Amino acid sequence: MSEKIQVASSKSTKLVAVKGMNDILPPDSARWEWFEAKVRHLMARYAYRNIRTPIVEPTALFVRGLGEVTDIVEKEMYSFEDRLNGEALTLRPECTAGVVRAVVEHNLLYEGGKRLYYMGPMFRHERPQRGRYRQFHQVGAEVLGFGGPDVDAELILLASSLFKQLGLRDIRLELNSLGQPAERLAHRAALIVHFEQHLNVLGEEEKRRLHTNPMRILDTKNPAMKSVVESAPQLLSFLGEASMAHFTALRTILDANGLPYTINPRLVRGLDYYNLTVFEFITESLGSQGTICGGGRYDYLIEQVGGKPSPAVGWGLGIERLLELVKEQCEPMAALTPDAYAIIPDVASLPEAIRVIEALRSAGIAVQMHASAGEGMGSMKSQFKKADSSGAAYGLIFGVDELALGQVTVKSLRDGVGAQRLEDLTCVAQWAHTLQSTH
Ligand code: ATP
Ligand code: MG
Repeated sequence: MSEKIQVASSKSTKLVAVKGMNDILPPDSARWEWFEAKVRHLMARYAYRNIRTPIVEPTALFVRGLGEVTDIVEKEMYSFEDRLNGEALTLRPECTAGVVRAVVEHNLLYEGGKRLYYMGPMFRHERPQRGRYRQFHQVGAEVLGFGGPDVDAELILLASSLFKQLGLRDIRLELNSLGQPAERLAHRAALIVHFEQHLNVLGEEEKRRLHTNPMRILDTKNPAMKSVVESAPQLLSFLGEASMAHFTALRTILDANGLPYTINPRLVRGLDYYNLTVFEFITESLGSQGTICGGGRYDYLIEQVGGKPSPAVGWGLGIERLLELVKEQCEPMAALTPDAYAIIPDVASLPEAIRVIEALRSAGIAVQMHASAGEGMGSMKSQFKKADSSGAAYGLIFGVDELALGQVTVKSLRDGVGAQRLEDLTCVAQWAHTLQSTH
C-alpha cells in the first residue's frame, strides 16, 4: 500500500526548520556535549543505568499515563495516524511513561528495583518563546520498585549535585507532598467548594477544570486568580499519618545533607500520575520559564500501564533551560580546536599524506586535513590561512619532495617557533606523544 505525500511547495521557497524546533550548531553544540558527558559521569557515580526508549509511542500510553485532563494530552501532543496501518501514534511529550512501558514490557523489576536515566528530545505543541520550544530535550532519572523516602532524597541530591558539578548557583528547591489518592479525594471536594465560592474570578479554562481536575487550578498562571489560589484549602492538611511520615523522613534526609528547600503547599505539578513527594528546582534568572527540573513520586503509574503494582519516583530536567543558565553563569566554553592542520600542497601527495594523518589520529592527535576544492589543493597562502583560522597549534606540511624522503615539516602556528623537520614517519606515535606533552 502506498500513497503519494502531497506537499504544497515550489522549488524556489527556502526550506526552514519547523517552528519551535531548533538546530543546535557548533560551537554551541560543544556545550551540549560537555553537559551530556557530565550527566553520564554523575549517573555512573550514583549507579543509574541508561535506558533508551523510542521517540514514537502508542497515543494510548500518554492518554492513560499522563491523564486526559492535562495540558499535554489536551493540547500539546503531536499525534498522528500511521499511514500504513492506521495505528494512533504520538511523538513522546515526556519520557516517564515510555520508561514505565519498557520496564513493564521487559519485566525489568523481576529481580528487584531499578535506577535508570535517559537523555533525548521531547515534543510538545506549545507557543514557542524563550525556554519553551516544540522540540526540546530532557535528562530524566527514574527509580522504580522502591517506595521509601530514601530514594526520593537520593534523586533530589543527584539533581542538586549535577547543578553543583556544572558550576550553577541560585537554583532553589521547592517541595510538597500530594499524599495518597484517598487524601486527595477529600481535598478535591474541599477545593471544589472553595472555587465555587469564587466562580466570578475563574477563567474559562479553570471553570472547565473545576469538576474534572480542580487541583490543576492551583497550577494556574492567571494572575487574577492569585489570591483565590492562595486562600484555597491546602492538601498538606489533608494528609494522614503515613503520608506525613514519608514527607518528614524525606525532609530529615535533606536537612542532614544541608540541602535547603522551601515547602510550597500549592506545588502540584502538571501531570496526573504523581502522589506523595513532588518537587521543582527553580531559578529566577530565566524569566517566567524558570522551572529547570521537576519530579515526584508516581506509585500508581506502573499499574496504570498494565504492570504489577510497584512504587516509583523520578524527575525530568529541561536541557535548553539549564544550558541557558550555564551560558549566563559560567565561564564561556573554550573553542574546540584540532591539534594540527594538515597542509597538502599537491594532490599527488594525498594518498601518502592521508596515511600519515590517519596514523597520527590513531595515536590520539586531532588533525584537520585541508580538503581539496575538487581541482587542486589551493595555494599555500590560502591553506595557511585556513590552518590559522582552524585554531590548530601546529601546521603539518606534506611537501612532495619531503614526503619522498619520508619527512614532513611541522610548523608551530601560535608562538613563532620556526619550522621543524620531522623525519621517519614510522615514528608518528612517538611524535604524537611529544606533541601532546608540549601543550
Ligand atoms: P512548564 O510549567 O514550564 O510548562 P512542565 O510542568 O510542563 O513545565 P515537565 O513536564 O515537568 O514541565 O518537564 C520537565 C522540565 O522540562 C521542565 O521543568 C522544563 O525545564 C522542561 N520543559 C518542559 N516543557 C518544555 C518546553 N516546551 N521547552 C523547553 N523545555 C521544557
Ligand atoms: Mg508545560
